[in-house]
Amino acid sequence: MTDCYGVIGYPVTHSKSPEMHNAAFNALKIDACYDKYSVKTEDLAQQVSLFKEQLSGWNVTVPHKNNIIELLDWVDPVALAAQSVNTVINENGKLLGYSTDGYGLEKAIEAEFGVNIKDKYILLVGAGGAAQASAVHFAAIGARKIAVVNRTVSKAEFVTDCIEKLSPEVATYFGGLQELPSDVSEVDIIVQCTSLELDETRELDFSFTDISSDAVCIDMIYNKKTPFLQKAEAKGLRIASGEQMLVYQGAKAFTMWTSQEPSIEVMKTAVGIK
Ligand code: NAP
Repeated sequence: MTDCYGVIGYPVTHSKSPEMHNAAFNALKIDACYDKYSVKTEDLAQQVSLFKEQLSGWNVTVPHKNNIIELLDWVDPVALAAQSVNTVINENGKLLGYSTDGYGLEKAIEAEFGVNIKDKYILLVGAGGAAQASAVHFAAIGARKIAVVNRTVSKAEFVTDCIEKLSPEVATYFGGLQELPSDVSEVDIIVQCTSLELDETRELDFSFTDISSDAVCIDMIYNKKTPFLQKAEAKGLRIASGEQMLVYQGAKAFTMWTSQEPSIEVMKTAVGIK
């Protein structure tokens, strides 16, 4: 019988995950399919109980990464600490939650810039589910310092609290979007983690004035050079958008579902990376 998978979010129409996973299933001759499901927050619980009968696993995107946790039977301790799940495995009706976002971002930064996270100073702009999961992952793999700035400052503080509990050796800073740390000129890696510029008409109010041109800048948003990336490029930073993160977070989810390693090349081609 065909195994069915999918991605659940709102909005989700822009998602490239179906192309990527279906290409990887085909390449390995796995009898499976992957679709996208547009689900509003108020319908999440009902949809999850349907998925329990219909899907073998699924990805979770904006805005459900946190809300889905209470609907699962078990959540990986790191995903639980970050309060963010992007991958669900349906093990005979028992729903298990994980996050592969941090791993995907780590691998994307390595692939795009040849930069390893160890001993680096990272500035996360945004503190949603993907930022939370990435911060906890980066702290666990040896980042030197992690600063988080966000529109809602309490969420940035939540992220740094998580890091302090799990990896107390990592230095932290939190603040609002216009409250950059005083040592921001030492930042090695900037990650744009907000969803604001998914909207073509909007631009995040962020200043690169004190940022070093030696830093690298990656945007989690994929398939476009956002205004944020354009400003970073104008300042002389090396930039990348989120396609490789998409591929690597997806590849890890694929392996969790199927116990097989997908072809990264096939997945990259499917999302338009040459
Ligand atoms: P999320 O949990 O919904 O978080 C959204 C983030 O955007 C929060 O920091 C939120 O700030 C901020 N934000 C939203 N509207 C804003 C506004 N008007 N002004 C300022 N900040 C605003 O989403 P997520 O799952 O973390 O995803 C974040 C982005 O990363 C999305 O664009 C998503 O598509 C992308 N993403 C890409 C990949 C990939 O593989 N490339 C993987 C995961 C996520 P507040 O806390 O103040 O609301």
